[in-house]
Amino acid sequence: MKLNNLKDPQQVVDYATAVKTGLGNNQGLFFPAKIPQLQNIDGLLAMPTLERNFHILKPLVHENIADDELRKIIAATYAFPSQLKTINQQTHCLELFHGPTLAFKDFGARFMANCLQHFAQQQSGQSEKITILTATSGDTGAAVAHAFHGLNNINVVILFPAGKISELQQKMFTTLSDNIRTVAIKGAFDDCQKLVKQCFDDRPLVQEVGLNSANSINVSRLFAQVCYYFDALAQLPIEQRSQAVVAVPSGNFGNLCAGIIAKTMGLPIKRFIASTNLNDTVPRYLQDGVWAPNKTVETLSNAMDVSKPNNWPRIEYLIESGQFDRELLTGLAVDESQTANTMQQLHQLGYISEPHAAVAYQGLQDSLTPDEVGVFLGTAHPAKFKSTVEDILKIELPLPPAIAACAQLPDLSKTIEPDYAALKQFLTA
Ligand SMILES: *Cc1c(COP(=O)(O)O)cnc(C)c1O
Repeated sequence: MKLNNLKDPQQVVDYATAVKTGLGNNQGLFFPAKIPQLQNIDGLLAMPTLERNFHILKPLVHENIADDELRKIIAATYAFPSQLKTINQQTHCLELFHGPTLAFKDFGARFMANCLQHFAQQQSGQSEKITILTATSGDTGAAVAHAFHGLNNINVVILFPAGKISELQQKMFTTLSDNIRTVAIKGAFDDCQKLVKQCFDDRPLVQEVGLNSANSINVSRLFAQVCYYFDALAQLPIEQRSQAVVAVPSGNFGNLCAGIIAKTMGLPIKRFIASTNLNDTVPRYLQDGVWAPNKTVETLSNAMDVSKPNNWPRIEYLIESGQFDRELLTGLAVDESQTANTMQQLHQLGYISEPHAAVAYQGLQDSLTPDEVGVFLGTAHPAKFKSTVEDILKIELPLPPAIAACAQLPDLSKTIEPDYAALKQFLTA
């Protein structure tokens, strides 16, 4: 299967090239022109998860990855479950936070890392240098650092705004050594992103260190996430599957895009709800057809504080090319007090959640009809947002072992000024 650059029809690449370059000419996103269709969905849903994931991913990547290699990559990626928890008769949460950094981003980051590692090994003889450069305001840094930690021939540099993220969040990626280096930038998250952009605009530097990014513009991350939508339906009673409505807490819209790919491949999801916080560019756009991003505002669900979602063009492409029916997508923006209320409602139902999942659950509350079955995605473990959850639910939340352990380790990050020359020196050292 080939991938097109959505901004440059002349650029058509294979999967390996899309993963290794990340972004195409003119900053265009790579995407399949036509999503492959899967046969015998009921048969797939009856399979063990790893076997099913193999059949889902094979048509997307087979040109570059042999079957036995793909099976190894899948075993290494999906080493923890995506678990459907029943909230009440009509509603379930797909918990995607049982990986090493307790967020759904573990799936995409690990698949990307394993694919890149495989492609680097294929290049036998000449050892190609790869440097992953990523700016993070929270969850991405941890998922990427853990996914790439210890891989040969791949260096990772993670930038974050000094003093602007919680100590625990920071410790989840600054305490690893070896091929993971972390840099605290004396500035805001925007300064980090600007520095990353400057690096990618510096062609000689890109060549010299083999620069690549690991954010959700990389199509491998989306492909990895397609699998757990199948896992969600596989865990529903058979008679409920065709009535499933999936609510996705959305920021950059990579996760929702993966769900829409799953449906386009043949998974019988009835419809989707795109739930956002106050950064509501997409819900407004779905209402009135006008793309009008506002200034980004800070919310309780901070991993979704994005007003210009960079995966939206992919969803738009699936709609415009007639592969996905826009009528099957509803947008809903949830404000701060609703988010807190919803967390309290879930708590009364016996379920401790966190702001991102609560935003998605509210989307179901608002629109589910009596014959439908709702699934909302639990994108992070509540303990990742410990103080917020404790404040809103008036409870004490123990730290899971993964977080408690790294809180004890020394922080290995370097601190530098938001200065391009300083960063470049660091990258080439
Ligand atoms: C990244 C993230 C999201 C948003 O996912 P997108 O794919 O960017 O829409 C939602 N919840 C959590 C906890 C996240 O870390």
